[in-house]
This record gives sequence, C-alpha cells and structure tokens, in this order.
Amino acid sequence: MSNTITYKFGGSSLGTPERMRHVAAILDARHDERQIVVVSAMQGVTNALVELTQLAAARDSAWRAKQQALQQKHIETVSELLGENGAAIGHRILSDCAELAELLKALTILRTTPKGALDWASGLGEVWSASIMAGLLGAEMLDAREVLVARPGELGVQIDWDATRERLAQHRCADATLKRVVVTGFVARDEDGRASTLGRNGSDYSGAIFGVLFQSAEIQIWTDVDGVLSADPRRVPEARVVDRMSFEEAFELAYFGAKVIHPQTLWPAARAATPIIIKNTFNPAHPGTRIDAQGAQEPPIKGITCVEQCALVELKGAGMIGVPGTAERAFAALRAASISVVMIAQASSEHSISCSVPGPDGERAVQVLKDAFVLELANGQIQNVHVTGSVALLAIVGDGMAGAPGTAARLFGALGRAGINVRAIAQGGSERNITVAIDHSEATRALRAVHAGFYLSAQTLSIGLIGPGHVGKALLEQLDQARARLAEQSNVDIRVRAIFGRRGLWRGDGHLSAEVLSTPPDSGDFVSLVDHVQADFLPHAMIVDCSASNEVAARYPEWLRRGIHIVTPNKHLGAGAVDRYLAVRQASAGSGARFRYEATVGAGLPVISTLRDLLDTGDQVFTIEGIFSGTLGFLFQRFDARVPFSELVAEARQLGYTEPDPRDDLRGTDVARKLTILARELGWMLQLEDVAVESLVPAALEHADVEQFMSGLKAFDAPMQERVAAAAARGCVLRYTARLDVQAKRAEVALTELPNTHPFAHTKATDNIVQFSTRRYSAHPMVVQGPGAGPEVTAAGVFADILRIAAGLGARL
Ligand code: ADP
Ligand code: ASP
Ligand code: MG
Repeated sequence: MSNTITYKFGGSSLGTPERMRHVAAILDARHDERQIVVVSAMQGVTNALVELTQLAAARDSAWRAKQQALQQKHIETVSELLGENGAAIGHRILSDCAELAELLKALTILRTTPKGALDWASGLGEVWSASIMAGLLGAEMLDAREVLVARPGELGVQIDWDATRERLAQHRCADATLKRVVVTGFVARDEDGRASTLGRNGSDYSGAIFGVLFQSAEIQIWTDVDGVLSADPRRVPEARVVDRMSFEEAFELAYFGAKVIHPQTLWPAARAATPIIIKNTFNPAHPGTRIDAQGAQEPPIKGITCVEQCALVELKGAGMIGVPGTAERAFAALRAASISVVMIAQASSEHSISCSVPGPDGERAVQVLKDAFVLELANGQIQNVHVTGSVALLAIVGDGMAGAPGTAARLFGALGRAGINVRAIAQGGSERNITVAIDHSEATRALRAVHAGFYLSAQTLSIGLIGPGHVGKALLEQLDQARARLAEQSNVDIRVRAIFGRRGLWRGDGHLSAEVLSTPPDSGDFVSLVDHVQADFLPHAMIVDCSASNEVAARYPEWLRRGIHIVTPNKHLGAGAVDRYLAVRQASAGSGARFRYEATVGAGLPVISTLRDLLDTGDQVFTIEGIFSGTLGFLFQRFDARVPFSELVAEARQLGYTEPDPRDDLRGTDVARKLTILARELGWMLQLEDVAVESLVPAALEHADVEQFMSGLKAFDAPMQERVAAAAARGCVLRYTARLDVQAKRAEVALTELPNTHPFAHTKATDNIVQFSTRRYSAHPMVVQGPGAGPEVTAAGVFADILRIAAGLGARL
C-alpha cells in the first residue's frame, strides 16, 4: 500500500494567514511518504467572486472597490507568509486580478453573466490559495484546470476519468519523487479546455478525485468541526461526533443537507475503497470520523438532517388507482422540465402521489404536471394538482434501520409528542433513510425532538416556573441536584428557562438555578413568559405553576391548547368552576399536552396516581376517606382533655404548621378542595359548595383580625374540651376527616369520633392518610399514608409529575 495521504483543507481552515500557517504546521508534523494537499479558496472568497460578477452585471459600481479589497487581501497574505519569496506568486495574483477586472467591465456591458464567465471567475480563489500554500509548503502546485476534465451531468458534475488520468500522467506533478503537491480544489476544465467548477462546496469532491488519482491510502478532509456530527451543530447544539460510518450513510447525510461533506465526494472514494477521514483543523488531536466500506453497527441511526425550502407537490385522484405508469409519467414530465425531485411518496391506495421539489420550482412543477395530465384532469380521473410551499424535509439516516422494525415508530413518536405534523413520508428503498416532509417553521424543533428521540442527545423540556415561593424554591433546589444525573442516566434535560413571580420575570436559555432569584428580574407578563418558554427551537414546553393563584389557573386551557404541558400543586383548577375544569380536560385531549396535579392532594404522596391506577385497571371505588390536612392531623393527635384547644392552635402556629391565619386551616375549605379534586377524578363533577363542611372557626370570630381571633378562641375551649372528654370516655378520639361516598353521592368534611383502634387514630406529626374502599380492596381497604405537607414533599410531588411527563416524551425513566 502506498503511503500517500491526500489532505483537503476547507475555506474555514484557510481563512487568514495565521490559519494557513497552522495548516502548514499540521502537514509538517506528519511523516507521510507523500502528501497531496487539496485546498479551497480562503474563507468567503468564492462568495465574494460570485458577488462581483453579480454586481458588475447589475452595473453596480461597488464591484470596483470590492474587487480591490479582494486583491489587497491576497497580496497582504502573500507578503505576510512569503515575504520576498512571494514576488512571483504576487505577480500572478495581480495579473489574474487585472484579467478579472477586464471581465467584470465586460459584464457591465453584457448586463448578464454567462456561465463560462462565472465558472472562470468563481474558481480564482482556489488558484490563489493553492499558489500561496504551495509557496508556504515549498511544494509544486497542480492547477486542476490543467488536468481535471469534468462535464455537467444529470446527477451533478461527471468526471471524465480516462481523459483526466491521461492528462495527469503527462503533468510534471505526476513525478512520484515529489513529496508534496498542492492542488486547487473546486476548479476543473471542460472537454474544450475552458475553466469550469465542480459546483459550490465542490472542493471535497476534488479531494476525493485527487485522492484516488494519486492512489492515496487515505483521504482526510479537514474542516472546522470534530467530524461528521449527528446533526447540524448550528441547529442542534447537542449534536455529537459519529466515530465511524459507511460511505452510503455519509452519502445520504450529505445528500440531505449535512454541509460538512459534498455528496459526490463519496463515490470515487467508495469505488476505490479509500477511507475518508473528517478531521478538525482546530483540534487535530481528535480522531474525527472515519467513513469507509464497513461502517459501524452502532449507533443504528447515524444522523438527522434537514433540507429546507422545499415544496410538496401532490397529484390526487381516485382515477389513478390501478392505472399503471402514472408515477412514471409524472416523474418523466418533471425530469423533462429539469425539476429535480428530492423525495417521492405514494399513498398505498395509489390515491395520491406526493413529491418534493426545490421550493422555487414548486409552481412550475404544478404547471408541468397539469400539462402532462391535461386529459385526466379534464375527465376527472385526476382531481387536483397542488403545491404546498415552505416545506422542510427531515431525514434520519443509518444502515442499522434495515430490518429494525421500531425505527419508524420512534421517529413518528418523537414528532408526534413534539406536536409536529407530518405531511408526507418516504422510506428509501435501501432502508437506510426515512424522510418526512414537515412545515418549514417547525424544522429546528423537529430536528431536536428526533435527535433526542433516538438518544443522540437528551430530550429537552423547556420549563417556566410560576411562583418561586416556598414550594417553587424547594423544587428549584431539587432540580439543581438531580439535573446532571437525569441527563446522563435518563436522557432528559429538564431546563428551567423562565421563572415568573410577583417581583418579575427571570429568563435564560440555559437552566436557571435557584441562585438566580437573588439577581434582579426583568419585567414581564404571562405572554412574555409563555413565548419564551415555548421557544420554536425546543420541542417540549411546560409550565409549572407553584402559585396558589386562581388567575394563573384561568390560563391553563389556553396554554394546554398551545401544546404546553402543565404541572401544579395549585388547587384552584381542580376545585374551581366545573366548566373551566372540563375546558382543561378538553384542551389537553385536543393537543396532547398533559396536565398533572399529584401534589394538590397529600403533597408528595401518590394519592391521585394510586386512584388513577385503580380506575384505569377497572376497579370500582366505593368510598375515599381520610385525614387530608397535615395541620389538623397534628392538632387532633395532640388534643386531649388536658390541654385547651386554643393553646394547641397557638403552638402549631408558632411552629409554622398552620397558615399565617390559622382560620385558613380550621375552616376546612382546603380539605374540601382536595375532596372535590378526588371526586372529579372519579368522573363526579362535584362542586366545592356541595361539600358539607364543619368549620372549626366559631361564627363569631369569622370576621375578627388574626390576633383577635387567636385570643377570642379561648372562649370556645370549653365545648371542645367536653367533646374530646366524652369521646375519650367511649374509648374514642376526635379526628378531622374527609369522606367521599360515591354511591350515596355524599361529600363531607367534619370532626369525627373514631374508635382508638381506627387507623386514622394513629397518624404521626403532619401525616396525611387516604383510604380507598373499592370492589377489589373491600375487606381491607387500600391505604396511602405519610407526611402530607411542607415545601420539600410538595416539591417532590411536583418533580415526580414532571418526570412522568418526561417519560412520556421519551426519557428513559
Ligand atoms: P469547509 O470550509 O471546511 O468546507 P464547511 O463550512 O463547508 O467547511 O462545512 C463545515 C460545516 O458544516 C460545519 O462548520 C458545520 O457547521 C456544518 N455542518 C452541517 N451539518 C453538519 C453535520 N452533520 N456534521 C458536521 N458539520 C455539519
Ligand atoms: N470554494 C468553493 C465554495 O465555496 C468550494 C469549496 O470550498 O468547497 O463553494
Ligand atoms: Mg465545505
């Protein structure tokens, strides 16, 4: 095997004199027998040359100054890198520039740019960069326009290999003793010797062609990223380097828009079985991506790409069913009109054929098809030909999907959960790619959702937290602790991107940790909050409502309709107006956005999820009863005939176990709200007013201020004392309980006398206890018991809901 290595350096590696020096250092550090160095123009130069021709043809005199600037840039580069030794090269550039100026002047007369003129002018950048690099490396320069014979073909530029080999064999650079040859990328000649090019981005193709012509062991394409990434890093920042892939995979990725390599590059290398390595000029130690005949089994999906600015053309009609040749006729007509078809999808009923074409050709394609099927349209066999603009094609690529049945399901699952509508689907015959047509505006979100769906990156959940109070803060702290582990183990990136409270709105793109609350917020409202959270480049948005506000609950239906998931410990929706409750259910069913509220009952205890499991598995619930208030639970465990009730209330208030105004607990309304939420879970649209509630606030003290209330309560100690003593005499205790009787349709909250042996008599501290009597659990009811109040456990309940939604979105939980 020869030890010739072909290197191709892209414009990004040759942007400045320093970069050129860096490239020379990379080459000097390698001890190959022979180095063939194919170069692009300095970064931006090809674009600038194309622009010059356009300006001149448009008679815009700005071309003169721009042409001077381009000349200046190259002359400075020569003098900086080569000094005195660069005189000959400098002259050559100046004479090219003089010719270019002549040509541009001519274009101002022609007022158009003939193809030959564009081909000649746009290739000058490579001629200049190659001569500078050859000077710097002390190497021979091979001007590809002398040897590489190319002609435009239907599938891109075709190489006349025989003619090229013959010409190269005659060239002085064919001398095998030359250790280094610098070759111009991009440019070529046609059969008649006129300058042409391999098309934009074509230097990669040049790299492969000369790699093969010089019988290299390897073709290395040096650029500004670590290798072929699983997606375009500008759109999916989490994209990662693929270590190895097959030629076919690389082709599909390149064809569907991965700019890192030009699709035609792959074939010469594949035919000669010469591996291609993609390397990073700015990180040479990274091994890069190896593209060869074998490829790699893992991961089964190598990448996800997107072609933008397409149009979807659809031919529809019942008359097409069973008529052979319709598709052929359609595509033949498009081909005759030189409209390239990027993707074809046919419904299995043959009722419609869709194909996607470059956006600017959309209208023309419709006309071409209408002309081709003029008879069928007239007699109704074909009903309609129409076009949808602003379409993007998203393709997943991987050899591993052949015969792997779950791939399509995962793709559509990921798109569906992100609420992205698929307009057409095509699977390549090779089973190496599945392509979907989607709306252009959803492309980035789709790329990210699918990327995460195949575990190529974590599934990002963009969260807006409302109400950074006790519970909200505790949640932020819990998230800060768990985030890294969840990203690593469970493929989920739970990212709080906005926090909205009374003080204002905190916004960020990365995760906002609890500390952000000590910085000053911006001003904001619900609209700016939600717009930021539901960014169009992130697939999944969620609002976590830790406020206790009815005003926030009023917005749930709108948010759910927009596809935003909601998690909350706020009881206002569940216990508020039935209409609004039903609107939320409907909005959630319509958009697929989830609404979860486990922490509204029993804080972190699994009360609602347990009830759902019972119902969903077909059990029938008879009664739900228990102690639903940690505060009242605590008070009545301590209450016996020895301590006055008012003293206990004062103590509990001091310990922070009650609301600032203890009447908010003693009234029992909060317990009634929880009962309402549970009833509605059973499908019983109970209203808060229909719960019979025994308030422990004496009517006379309802309107007193808090301190008056606290001292006034003493006057009511005696009757309470009598009640507890009477109960004790019967071997009973007092407990503030809630009870839902499903058959009798009765809901009540009251101070109840229970035997000492009753499970409710033995709760601890602020425990909640919920007992379900059901058809399956009748002799021994099912009991959920544990701490049911406090910011930590409430936040944990909210967190668990967030994770359940994340699991539904594809996190591995
Ligand atoms: P060069 O000047 O070296 O030819 P290009 O700009 O043509 O470089 O191509 C490299 C760029 O391609 C990267 O900087 C990256 O932004 C973009 N790119 C798009 N898709 C991918 C992908 N899947 N993997 C790697 N890079 C990609
Ligand atoms: N310089 C050419 C272009 O910009 C070719 C290339 O860089 O690949 O299209
Ligand atoms: Mg390139």
